[in-house]
Amino acid sequence: MPADLHVHTTASDGILSPVRVVCLARTLGLGAIAITDHDTVSGVAPAVQEAAARGGPVVIPGIEISASHHGRDVHILGYYVNTTHSGFLARIRQLADKRSERAARMVGRLRSLGLKVSLDDVLELAGKASLGRPHIADALVRAGVVQNRAQAFSRWIGRDCPGYVPREPVSPLEAVALVRLAKGVPVLAHPGTARADGIIAELAAAGLQGLEVYHPEHTSEQVRRYLDVAAALRLVSTGGSDFHGGDNHGRLGEVLVGLKVVEELKRRRL
Ligand code: AMP
Ligand code: ZN
Ligand code: FE
Ligand code: FE
Repeated sequence: MPADLHVHTTASDGILSPVRVVCLARTLGLGAIAITDHDTVSGVAPAVQEAAARGGPVVIPGIEISASHHGRDVHILGYYVNTTHSGFLARIRQLADKRSERAARMVGRLRSLGLKVSLDDVLELAGKASLGRPHIADALVRAGVVQNRAQAFSRWIGRDCPGYVPREPVSPLEAVALVRLAKGVPVLAHPGTARADGIIAELAAAGLQGLEVYHPEHTSEQVRRYLDVAAALRLVSTGGSDFHGGDNHGRLGEVLVGLKVVEELKRRRL
């Protein structure tokens, strides 16, 4: 039974709640899914409960930590993190607080540019989620400024756009250490979009255990290259759909790996 190791929910910027994601995974016949929300593990417990109550699929506790390197987004996935580790929780809660401050600053900038977007809308659309640019994008859609998230990113909130404010700086090394602190298994997410190949060896020396070789945005040439990099550094080759729901990013189960990959990740827990 195949596994999708990269799934977002309403705990961050996904469209479906953890419970609905689990239902969909069961309907699709997936053996396991990893819940990997941006900088939060709050979607894990409801997903685990739902799966336990209905007899599957296996839910792997995870996180996707947003780091940056030379101004580029570098995302570190963490599998089998202990979601109750206090030091780990303290830091990710701090990151969530910083995300809220940053969202307020971004809305301030957009308003000063004359856009009628409101922080109340952003907060309402995000609910209890870890606040991210996609929620600001949704508020821009609601305000009629743009038609969809993609347009919001390309015109207003993408990295080179007037409304952009960077996140709290977290280095990829800190993100790897944070996952290790919580006894989890750190994996570099979508290396093809991170474009940080130069630091993979250093991250591996610091405890990185895997590379997300299979991802909807990777070309077949990138898949071949990262398979080689993973083999050379003895990293597990993982993959997932990066499912968010809605029309952006992948469909659930679009990218799958075998349960052997899951077993190998499990073996590499601390
Ligand atoms: P943030 O972490 O708040 O800076 O937001 C970045 C997140 O927004 C990424 O992890 C993606 O999930 C999402 N994202 C990035 N680019 C786009 C896009 N063009 N359209 C929709 N969502 C995007
Ligand atoms: Zn996202
Ligand atoms: Fe990512
Ligand atoms: Fe993701």
